[in-house]
Amino acid sequence: MSSLFPALTEALADPDGTAAHRSALRFGDRSLTYGELAATAAPLAARVGEAGRIAVWATPTLETAVAVVAALLAGVPAVPLNPKSGGGELGHIVADSAPALVLAAPGDQLPDALASLPRVDIDVRIDVHAGLDTDLDTGVRAPGPTPPALADELPALVVYTSGTTGPPKGAVIPRRAISTTLDALADAWRWTGDDVLVHGLPLFHVHGLILGILGPLRRAGSVRHLGRFETAGVTRELSGGATMLFGVPTMYHRIAEALPDDPALAKALARARLLVSGSAALPVHDHERIAEATGRRVIERYGMTETLMNTSVRADGEPRAGTVGVPLPGVELRLTEEDGTTALEAYDGETVGEIQVRGPNLFTEYLNRPDATAAAFTEDGWFRTGDMAVRDPDGYVRIVGRKATDLIKSGGYKIGAGEIENALIEHPGVREAAVTGEPDADLGERIVAWIVPADAQKPPSAAELADHVADRLAPHKRPRVVHYLGALPRNDMGKIMKRALAHD
Ligand code: ATP
Ligand code: MG
Repeated sequence: MSSLFPALTEALADPDGTAAHRSALRFGDRSLTYGELAATAAPLAARVGEAGRIAVWATPTLETAVAVVAALLAGVPAVPLNPKSGGGELGHIVADSAPALVLAAPGDQLPDALASLPRVDIDVRIDVHAGLDTDLDTGVRAPGPTPPALADELPALVVYTSGTTGPPKGAVIPRRAISTTLDALADAWRWTGDDVLVHGLPLFHVHGLILGILGPLRRAGSVRHLGRFETAGVTRELSGGATMLFGVPTMYHRIAEALPDDPALAKALARARLLVSGSAALPVHDHERIAEATGRRVIERYGMTETLMNTSVRADGEPRAGTVGVPLPGVELRLTEEDGTTALEAYDGETVGEIQVRGPNLFTEYLNRPDATAAAFTEDGWFRTGDMAVRDPDGYVRIVGRKATDLIKSGGYKIGAGEIENALIEHPGVREAAVTGEPDADLGERIVAWIVPADAQKPPSAAELADHVADRLAPHKRPRVVHYLGALPRNDMGKIMKRALAHD
């Protein structure tokens, strides 16, 4: 049993101490010290303390961060809701997770799907200036009751998966998984309270919420959230002393595109201590362009809603394009053969197996889905990620793709879509590329390329692309069919929805 946020506990106990005066969160021009965060979150915690489970209307605001911290202080599991999901998905999540109430910022309009839920406004007093002696309208005088000591296995959050491969599933995440994953990342990234994070991600998934908000708070560091990601904000914050940037590949793609015309951005990125990418594969081409323009290599980490973080390139390791690094401390990782239970011994950079993980970073269960939970684990407790990978001789993991959508079985070969996508993206006429397999009488599956041209008026022809990949890919890996699109279908995390492509 331990506090998830020692600096916050300290600020609660000693409102005039040094911890209370440290900067915790800034969203736009609104910010909170640890003392102010404590003064705001503790009364809210007292207010939700009786509820069994609560929902948070997770806009990218200070309010959301405060609400989640309050729930964690109270020991009440919180379900962050994506404000952009349609009524159907919200209805599914609300019915599935059955929250007792929804926390929302005072001005927020909530959709019909949430109409049946009692609403509690998140009252953030940004003018309290570390004065814990404020009387918020909850009637509780801050700092309020000392938060209860909470068991490590207590559910902290129910986070719905991104819905890339099917309807989102609610992963029940215990406090223990959050503390261990954040501490493992601190070790891998040399992450300290002196780090200031630039954050432009949504707050309803693991990346933006657990890594991007709870991570800095656990380290007693601070967050600068951009509200909406834009490269000007990255330049501003990194030039102003921020040390780390967390992003998804679509953000690094935008950075790579902007760099040739934006020397201030290049200079700002060069100053950063750590640039981290995750949630999907970072195209090698973007990694290389950023390295050339800034002298800095983006490091990749690999995780899932169910497992939090599994691997990362370490801050003191070799940042290699196209790899997600090594297992984090405490995480056991193996690749298995097609039977799903025999471990592959080979670290040869070639033999593809399914990634399975075990460790204190894992979720407890899928909410209301005992069958899905049981199917996700082997008999001896390994979690089947559904992601396929190879390992280099020195243990670096390279993800080939998802078993369901990225592994193409063609002409007796198992071919990863990522390698083909990386080759296509290197063509100057290609802005984005996705590769899928479709049924083929001869080959089993044939390789299909979906291309977003850099210039819609002058898309590279199929013959030109064939010439381009001929230098880079073995014959059995070359696309047989090319489709052109204005944009790839992506979800909120910028992940390519290959289901939508295949069904077009
Ligand atoms: P759903 O499970 O609902 O289909 P999802 O798997 O996209 O959606 P998340 O839990 O948010 O939901 O994403 C985890 C997945 O993201 C991993 O299984 C993996 O496929 C992918 N991923 C995460 N980080 C990386 C990375 N660095 N490189 C490649 N893939 C990654
Ligand atoms: Mg998944």
